[in-house]
Amino acid sequence: MDNNNNNNDIIKNDDNNNYEDICYMCRRPESQAGRLLKMAGSFCVCADCMQKTFNLMNAGDIPGFPMDSNKNNPLGANPFGFNLGFIGDIPKSQRLKKKPAPEEARQNGEEPENVLDFRRLPPPHKIKESLDEYVIGQEKAKKVISVAVYNHYKRVTKDASGDIEIGKSNMLMIGPTGCGKTYLVQTLARILNVPLAITDATSLTEAGYIGDDVESVLSKLLMAADNDVERAETGIVFIDEIDKIAKKKNTTSRDVSGESVQQGLLRILEGAEVQVPVGATSKNAMVPMTTMNTRNILFICGGAFPELDKIIKKRLLTGSGIGFNSVLSDKYDEEDVLSHVNNEDLREFGMIPEFIGRLPVIYTLTGLDRDMLVKIMSEPKNAILKQYQKLLALDDVDLLFDDDALEAIAEKALAKETGARGLRSIIEEFMLDIMYEIPKDRSIGRVTITRDYIESKGGPRIELHGAVPVIPPMSEGASN
Ligand code: ADP
Repeated sequence: MDNNNNNNDIIKNDDNNNYEDICYMCRRPESQAGRLLKMAGSFCVCADCMQKTFNLMNAGDIPGFPMDSNKNNPLGANPFGFNLGFIGDIPKSQRLKKKPAPEEARQNGEEPENVLDFRRLPPPHKIKESLDEYVIGQEKAKKVISVAVYNHYKRVTKDASGDIEIGKSNMLMIGPTGCGKTYLVQTLARILNVPLAITDATSLTEAGYIGDDVESVLSKLLMAADNDVERAETGIVFIDEIDKIAKKKNTTSRDVSGESVQQGLLRILEGAEVQVPVGATSKNAMVPMTTMNTRNILFICGGAFPELDKIIKKRLLTGSGIGFNSVLSDKYDEEDVLSHVNNEDLREFGMIPEFIGRLPVIYTLTGLDRDMLVKIMSEPKNAILKQYQKLLALDDVDLLFDDDALEAIAEKALAKETGARGLRSIIEEFMLDIMYEIPKDRSIGRVTITRDYIESKGGPRIELHGAVPVIPPMSEGASN
């Protein structure tokens, strides 16, 4: 066979035991195609394809095969008379992880590692504590998500059958861009050690149109779970920009990327058996398929929902008595109006009732103010400033930030209106020169970033080794 083994994705021999074999002809995994016939060179074929091949041979339709009426064999000495080399190897990304045999694991005194264990699931307050280490502010959101996730996995890991069926805790997160929606979910998946797929609702379209089918979100989850179906079935899917699939207003054409996508998502949000392409986000004849049950997958949708605040405010004001309106109007200007959101408002925004009904946990995140941005830069475990401090510490240089320098960076980020997302690019811009120049001069012991430097009115404060007094590191105080 003409193998192309340069490809890293091809299964190596020592890896082979962890992945299911696939029929090289119809591309179905062994769990679907039935026992495969294994031949030399890891070539496998299922009984159906074998039978079809024999039928063709008997019919004399394979040129060069001994039964061919012409008796001419272009492959010369090949006793089988036909070349299967064209089929090639199947990449690892298209092969399913074998299901762990619980018996075998138990005999070895191990628990199958992929199975979620309720006893190892942290309680809500512990989940929130872990989130606090990374995510600044958003207290309400962190609390709600901790409880909802705990309940979700309780439902998954305990036997939820019986008289009372515990409902799914799919969530809808509403908050302006860059306030930590994605980051919150990423941190959560890391804490719980479950696979996470992040996808963008804008890339989805109704099946048959250009764009990804809704099943592609499950393919991504399967990839994140290293093609282990069982693990993927208890993972988390985060669908961002969900507000972009609101029903289009005043449209006469078919709404293939809006309402139809909401309709398409209904089935998988609720819990269904879905045919999912393995190792690809679209279905085609050469991609193996598998069945995934979405019953225990936690779906979290997020979006900025621009103008939703106006809808909420209108509702709140029309409900109040005449004369009080102006007072209330001022009150809601100051307050976080989004936190008053209800299903009615979302329906008016363009989300269909069935869709909202499948996202029972709704909560809002607040926009970040200057103080929160300062904290985001310096406080979380892997804060960006701590990362730069660590890099310069390797050159034996202390890096410090004046308080008002941090405020200046936060002000610049606020002006960009992209939340905390703008911070990194601003910091990287002025740190480039520092990271380039400082290692040139080994006598430098400390660099202090000042507001003037951020505002391009001056340089950083430089102190030499020997003249530098000992100061506590950043974790004990955000700046000097
Ligand atoms: P969005 O709300 O648009 O999904 P992200 O979660 O992608 O925003 O935030 C972008 C980046 O900003 C994150 O990777 C994270 O580093 C930082 N960030 C945003 N909000 C917070 C927060 N509340 N606490 C800590 N970091 C945050």
